[in-house]
Amino acid sequence: MRMSQLYSATLREVPAEAEIASHQLMLRAGLIRKVAMGIYSYMPVGWRVMKKIMQIIREEMDAQGGQEMFMPTVQPAELWQESGRWNVYGKELWRVKDRHDRDFLLAPTHEELITAHVRNDVRSYKQLPLMPYQIQTKFRDERRPRFGLMRCREFVMKDLYSFDRDEAGLEISYQKMHTAYTNVFNRCGLTCRPVVADSGAIGGSGSHEFMALSEVGESQILFCHKCDYAATDEIAAVEPCPTGVGETPASMEKVHTPDCKSVEAVAALLGMPANRLVKTICYMADGKFVTVLIRGDRQVNEVKLANVLGCVELFFADDETVRQHGMEPGYCGPVGLNQDVPVVADREVALMVNHACGAGEKDYHLKNVNPQRGDYRIDTVADIVLVEKGAACPVCGAPLDTARGIEVGQIFKLYTKYSAKLGARYLDEKGQEQDIVMGCYGIGVGRTMAAIIEQNHDDYGIVWPMSVAPWQVEIVPVNDKDEFLVEQAEGLYQELSKRGVETLIDDRKERPGVKFNDADLLGFPLRITVGKKCRETGTVEIKIRATGEVQEVALADVADIIQNLVRSMLQDLHCS
Ligand code: ATP
Ligand code: MG
Repeated sequence: MRMSQLYSATLREVPAEAEIASHQLMLRAGLIRKVAMGIYSYMPVGWRVMKKIMQIIREEMDAQGGQEMFMPTVQPAELWQESGRWNVYGKELWRVKDRHDRDFLLAPTHEELITAHVRNDVRSYKQLPLMPYQIQTKFRDERRPRFGLMRCREFVMKDLYSFDRDEAGLEISYQKMHTAYTNVFNRCGLTCRPVVADSGAIGGSGSHEFMALSEVGESQILFCHKCDYAATDEIAAVEPCPTGVGETPASMEKVHTPDCKSVEAVAALLGMPANRLVKTICYMADGKFVTVLIRGDRQVNEVKLANVLGCVELFFADDETVRQHGMEPGYCGPVGLNQDVPVVADREVALMVNHACGAGEKDYHLKNVNPQRGDYRIDTVADIVLVEKGAACPVCGAPLDTARGIEVGQIFKLYTKYSAKLGARYLDEKGQEQDIVMGCYGIGVGRTMAAIIEQNHDDYGIVWPMSVAPWQVEIVPVNDKDEFLVEQAEGLYQELSKRGVETLIDDRKERPGVKFNDADLLGFPLRITVGKKCRETGTVEIKIRATGEVQEVALADVADIIQNLVRSMLQDLHCS
């Protein structure tokens, strides 16, 4: 490719809304252009990278028995009513109507449609297992689209679905995808860690997220240095540590605590540590009022809580609603609570002895409260605690550490969640009807590109891993007026292209400084500078973008050296 003909649009100024490196660099290097909030065009250079990532994904899916197909974005609401998700998916589901006023949606994922296809096409156990997949556009009307391609409203996803006869089959498919995902991200040059994950709106149980480690990641990972436990904070578990255990339950006392609304203030006034207190937090779960009890020094994990409650939307209740339910904001407590208010308690709370909590009325708290004595009602006991750094590993007890990650992919065991609802069954060897056992497996292609940039950039620009670079090599003739140089550069360009090396030549009439800056910004792994020395000593300079290493090589050897470098850099990434 000739740079003079390339539809590229590097930017000098980056809009302030681009907060993270990948977003800034993608805009500066002209890989993407914003169309609307969370909606982007992929420009030619960016799309080349996307295609390379998609190719790696295809190869790894096919290697495990995946079969590529392509399903529509626009789907009839009926399908989603059958699965029940039309009503529970919430505002993220992009609903549209056709000219006849019929309900459709822009698909955020394709479990319903693929299951409906398989329901119609699969009759017998002989047709299983199956692993259809597609690389296709998804729509999610995200509440906070941000960080460029990290969280969009329209984005490209690879989604594969596995259909097996039984759970043993699902286990095999799941492991195959686990391997495929590990390979995909390794080949893309990403440092990734699979972690145990929540299965969210997709449902089912058993899931891993693949986290590209990065400070700007929106996900928090908890992991153990001693054993290999690793989970997202949405699901991480800890051993419960209830306080007061072993003490004799004392008689309950009401204490005057004026102006003590925070846990710290109450703890100080009562002269006890925060872990002897229970916080009462009021939520609206899909419009229903609930109270939640958690140890004073802990935070509620809203993902766990939403799963326990089986709700989609979870907000704090406002003061007015709290009062309507007979409590005083800032002094809420479970003792004497109205019968119609559901109470969810964290596992620790249910075991605490002699704890303190709000009295439910202004300026008062209670001491020596004992749930096991029946001082108050608990409807549900569950693990709803947000695990924080230093908490004990649930497997080996060592203190957990934290890291931030970008979720680039997720794999789920769905079991029969969709096949049962949609009636996707097969006849087994005995002629008996069985629900098909399913799994689903997604990779965000654009988010993967963004994560690659987060992990591979410096002050000057992107540093593409060879496997996904838009071009492998860039040739920079430093003086476009020097015919000899231009001729040598052209010759090299022809030779490398002939050998199948993806080469870009910067044949623009620009100063060398401009060319070098753009080369660094666009991040091609190898740069060949054809300069004065080419005329004087017959040599050119090869620069490796990632290390800054420079070598002088004879013109006659360049093509061989470059070809070998490209090959070995690809091999390092398990691509050849
Ligand atoms: P998140 O928790 O980040 O919202 P998710 O768990 O809802 O993502 P999945 O349903 O697991 O996403 O989708 C599979 C993959 O698609 C994700 O691992 C991610 O790489 C990508 N993805 C999901 N939502 C978005 C988005 N809004 N923009 C870009 N990529 C996305
Ligand atoms: Mg996910």
